Amino acid sequence: MALIVQKYGGTSVGTIDRIRNVAARVKRTRDEGNQVAAVVSAMSGITDKLIGMAKEFGENPSEREMDVLLATGEQQSIALVSLALHELGVPALSVTGRQAGITTTGSHTRGRIDAIDPQFMKRSLEAGNALVVAGFQGITPDGLIHTLGRGGSDLTAIAVAAAVGADVCQILTDVDGVYTCDPRIVPNARKLPEISYDEMLELASSGAKVMQSRSVEFAKKYGVVFEVRSSLNDNPGTMVLEEHPDMENVVIRGVSIERSQARVTITGIPDEPGMSAKILCALGDAEINIDMIISNIASDGMARHSFTMHSNDLGKAQAALKPVLAEISGESKIETEAGIAKLSCVGIGMRSHSGVAATMFKALGEAGINIGMISTSEIKIAVTVDETRIEDAARAVHDAFELDKAPA
Ligand code: ADP
Ligand code: ASP
Ligand code: MG
Repeated sequence: MALIVQKYGGTSVGTIDRIRNVAARVKRTRDEGNQVAAVVSAMSGITDKLIGMAKEFGENPSEREMDVLLATGEQQSIALVSLALHELGVPALSVTGRQAGITTTGSHTRGRIDAIDPQFMKRSLEAGNALVVAGFQGITPDGLIHTLGRGGSDLTAIAVAAAVGADVCQILTDVDGVYTCDPRIVPNARKLPEISYDEMLELASSGAKVMQSRSVEFAKKYGVVFEVRSSLNDNPGTMVLEEHPDMENVVIRGVSIERSQARVTITGIPDEPGMSAKILCALGDAEINIDMIISNIASDGMARHSFTMHSNDLGKAQAALKPVLAEISGESKIETEAGIAKLSCVGIGMRSHSGVAATMFKALGEAGINIGMISTSEIKIAVTVDETRIEDAARAVHDAFELDKAPA
């Protein structure tokens, strides 16, 4: 008998019929002789709807209350999936984050899982129940509700799998695996049989929302091997696991895109120690996540720094930077540009193959797409382009690396 954790995302529980499909799948997995803990998300659209309702009362609602509100989406689903299991004669128990023993730290709406006490879940499984665990939620040591960031049910599933010592962890979603690019954008994208944690992490943190990036970090840290597959068919999915030597033969594993980015450039910064720290500390204190950073010295001997960030943070960044600039030099100016997007190519094979950037830039040039900023890591090359051209850019680069063809 195996212990299987299955995670069903918002689309997979999006209607009453879909909920019945989930229940049937859980029942089938149990009938095959396994114990099952299913982690479920809110029905698709519910979390966004709740956020919209909260914003009726002001643009910046209290994050404590947001957590209380958003956690209800998953609570609806666990009860409904349990009821659907009861309809099939399966003893099922809904389990909230608190009952699952999930303790969190960090801030409201961005809680981090600190520990899981799996005793209740283990006892209930041993007693013959199917468990239906609320994704996306946990509880602070003081008893406050935390949510785990958008897409956070993935993290719940991986963490529950680690805590209960699951034999198998399956992320069941509306695609049948991880593709070389989002198949909604690149129709000839190819399903990958496997991908390393590091590649999945880079893709997820650069916009491939098929997995929440923090859940992949957690899986790598605790060695949780998991499979991404469809909740609607039985096609084999994609295994996400520690890299092995054969994986380096593939130069680019996948391409991801991230929309709604903005650039801030600060000019006229004195070329002196401590200036960059002042600027970055101001942005950090304002809780703004900076992505790419480029810095250079202009012909007048003054430095200029450019950063990218989510376009929602642009106003906050301008407000945070104003006093700092006034303090460091009267010459400093801020320029901003919204409407940009980021394209990333990811592959551990990049470590041992050259010419990757050349192929990527040539493909973009031939498609008439201008490159803005560039950043690289050991296994990723990312560029910004005009947001209106991002899908063309993804297709051009996907074609240039022939990602639709299985490697020889
Ligand atoms: P769930 O509700 O199950 O958590 P999500 O909507 O969060 O599902 O993630 C699944 C979606 O991720 C797919 O429908 C697909 O459009 C998108 N996606 C983005 N990049 C990829 C990729 N490389 N491979 C597969 N799906 C991707
Ligand atoms: N319901 C949450 C969200 O929409 C968590 C999740 O679906 O994973 O982000
Ligand atoms: Mg998701």
